[in-house]
Amino acid sequence: MNHDYDIGIVGLGPVGSFAALLLEKKGLKVLAIDKDQDIYSLPRAVSISDQGLRMTQEVNIDDIYIENSTEVGGAGFVDKDLNFIGDPIELKGFTTPNGWSPMRFFHQPYTDKKIRQRLEQSSITILLETELVSVIDEIEGVKFNTKNLVDSTEKQYSCKYLIGADGGSSALRKLLEITQEDLNYNRDWVVVDVELTGKNRLDDKAIQICDKERIGTFIPSHLPFRRWEFIIYDDENKKDFQDDKKIQELIGRWLNPNEYKIIRKAIYQFHSVLAHDFKKGNCFLIGDAAHQNPPFMGEGMMSGYRDAFNLAWKIAYVIKNNFSSNLLDTYQEERRPHAKFVVENSAGIGELMEAYANADDPKDVPSELVAKGYGSFILPNLDEGLFYGGKADDSMAAGQFFPQIASYKDGLIEEHQDYLLGDGFAFLSKQEIEISEEHKEFLDKLNCCFVTLEKDVIESNPWVAGFLELGDTFIIRPDKYIYGCSSNNVSLDELIEDLKSRMSLN
Ligand SMILES: Cc1cc2nc3c(=O)[nH]c(=O)nc-3n(C[C@H](O)[C@H](O)[C@H](O)COP(=O)(O)OP(=O)(O)OC[C@H]3O[C@@H](n4cnc5c(N)ncnc54)[C@H](O)[C@@H]3O)c2cc1C
Repeated sequence: MNHDYDIGIVGLGPVGSFAALLLEKKGLKVLAIDKDQDIYSLPRAVSISDQGLRMTQEVNIDDIYIENSTEVGGAGFVDKDLNFIGDPIELKGFTTPNGWSPMRFFHQPYTDKKIRQRLEQSSITILLETELVSVIDEIEGVKFNTKNLVDSTEKQYSCKYLIGADGGSSALRKLLEITQEDLNYNRDWVVVDVELTGKNRLDDKAIQICDKERIGTFIPSHLPFRRWEFIIYDDENKKDFQDDKKIQELIGRWLNPNEYKIIRKAIYQFHSVLAHDFKKGNCFLIGDAAHQNPPFMGEGMMSGYRDAFNLAWKIAYVIKNNFSSNLLDTYQEERRPHAKFVVENSAGIGELMEAYANADDPKDVPSELVAKGYGSFILPNLDEGLFYGGKADDSMAAGQFFPQIASYKDGLIEEHQDYLLGDGFAFLSKQEIEISEEHKEFLDKLNCCFVTLEKDVIESNPWVAGFLELGDTFIIRPDKYIYGCSSNNVSLDELIEDLKSRMSLN
């Protein structure tokens, strides 16, 4: 069956835009629509993680984030007098195994505008002021109807797969009748971005303010910007928080009104919800359409980027390389539990803030709450999915992100070298490997890249060296997750046989 497009994407927020660029890079014909003309203007994402930056390398938009961002100094919880409860976490001056600093603050209007320009320069067909109105999911593909919001004309398009990146109130999620799991954090907050008019005198650590009078968050965004977020209690009138005088009063303990101007503010209800299905038929949900969390971890958009990164290569293998569409079922299997961790732990930070604020002594706060709040700083590996034996396995690092290969100068990264792993699966080892004749055809279809790492490259990167102690040849998926590695326990042939059984050809 012929389709107008390989892929339709509903929503060109940050997650839909990233997905569109990834799929275009894979050589797919993409149509992306958005009901709005312009990028979103209210205060939202402000931080990008090391993993986020690594993913954006894939479509060369890492530079957009880097040229307009600042390393985060650290993070922690403070009491009502703004004294740290326990030690803050230091986040500056080092890189992680992903090859980037743990977190950077960026200015979203700048990055989103630049990313939109990249989209406009691409081969992606973009229809703005165009809304999704209905969808017909058939065995061979999806038909969907759109409405042009300027002249009210309706049109139908067909595609093999349709991706809903249409945000928290996702129309596609509703049309598909996908329900959501509510994880019970639903609170109103006001979020304010200010531009400093003079020299900055505020600290570079993000703080969660555990003050019973008003719980809040301070974010030392990319200068000259600073952000505050404050809870609005149930007995308060939300409208009062739209008044600049009220905002100046709240920020008053940090800055005088003549030291800044308010550039944007918004009142949100922070939710913690998760779609029950991330995939239904030939349709997928990614980003806020699939999961929403309070922003305390700074991981909502990151979670959406992970969705796109997980899904794009799988779709490409099915459409371009003729692999069975069963591969696409691993999207929900792998992504939903991971996204749930982010939703739960983001809400966990909110709960911990409230518990610290209400406690006479922080030591009285139950250790499970503390663990949940601080546990959010370490993201889990993937568990079940496309891995050797179908499950993550620490002994062969299956389910873990392979560190980024990089070249170093004077102890600093000179070049990020993920590109050495190619566009498909990578076989990475310390010495050249032999592939049996019977596996060659399969590996050709898999578009494999064979990488032999020189001793000095391994020795320059302690993380890569650490992984290579676990085994001989690593199979690394296109999204840099480790499928498994050969060792005395599992031969390379067994590893390839297992992969073949999970990625069947049509
Ligand atoms: C205060 C705050 C701070 C945050 N801070 C961070 C942070 O620091 N780091 C981080 O990673 N995340 C953060 N987040 C979360 C992050 O902003 C969201 O997860 C992210 O914006 C989701 O992107 P998205 O593309 O999935 O959805 P959206 O950005 O909501 O985009 C959805 C798009 O779909 C379009 N659309 C909707 N319906 C239709 C339709 N029917 N037809 C066509 N188009 C449609 C919309 O116009 C919109 O452009 C924060 C969130 C908030 C509220």
